[in-house]
Amino acid sequence: MPEGDTIHYAANRIRPVLAGHVPDELETPHPRFGRDRWPERLAGRTVTSVDAHGKHLFLRFEGGLTIHSHLRMTGSWRVLDGGKRPSRATWLRLRRGDRQVLQLNGPVLELMTDSRTRFDQRLAQLGPDVLAPEFDYGRFLRRLRDDDPTRPIGDALLRQQTIAGIGNMWKVEGCFAAGVDPWRPTGRVSDEEAVRIVELVRPRMQQSALDGKQDRWRRIYGKAGRPCPRCGAASHIRVRGQWDDNRPTFWCPTCQR
Ligand SMILES: [Zn+2]
Repeated sequence: MPEGDTIHYAANRIRPVLAGHVPDELETPHPRFGRDRWPERLAGRTVTSVDAHGKHLFLRFEGGLTIHSHLRMTGSWRVLDGGKRPSRATWLRLRRGDRQVLQLNGPVLELMTDSRTRFDQRLAQLGPDVLAPEFDYGRFLRRLRDDDPTRPIGDALLRQQTIAGIGNMWKVEGCFAAGVDPWRPTGRVSDEEAVRIVELVRPRMQQSALDGKQDRWRRIYGKAGRPCPRCGAASHIRVRGQWDDNRPTFWCPTCQR
């Protein structure tokens, strides 16, 4: 599932291929880019950096142009060795030497000026990145307290203006690890409890951003009806859709309070 760790993992793989280099080839095979002329606009420009903030990935080129990507539920990034031809799902292909970077299925893929990346509302309002080397807990708590106090804590963690990079799986696993009921209204979750969820999720996500192995951190996500890993047979994992977006929320009614 594309959450912050998935995006940072992609950035970590793309960086050694492209950062500091001019791509040998750049093409946008998908018909929607037919008139956008990305190959002409980016020709001869060095990729100055490849970075991620929350679920957003940025390929920055010299001359103040940036490719911005958000995968939502459907997109992906691939780094391939060799000259395999891109499939119809390829929206963007960059080649350097015998390595290729592919962006598949968008759905958000746009070429922006650097000033627009600073002023774009979606990007400028993002909260602190859960994967930042130094996480700004004060800013996270201020944003959390600005939100609706009746909103369940599980759903509040999905609001990217509060904390950037947590998606539905990490929300579920973070609340479980901290023993916090994801249904508890945020107004009744203490600062210490909210901080604890982030402290538990960060090292797991950081490891996943390095090795791409997100699945091994799933203790209760997708496991409705199974015994709780903490309580054993005495309690079973439940699932129910949460808040406006009805995202499936797994929890143990016994050890999460
Ligand atoms: Zn339990």
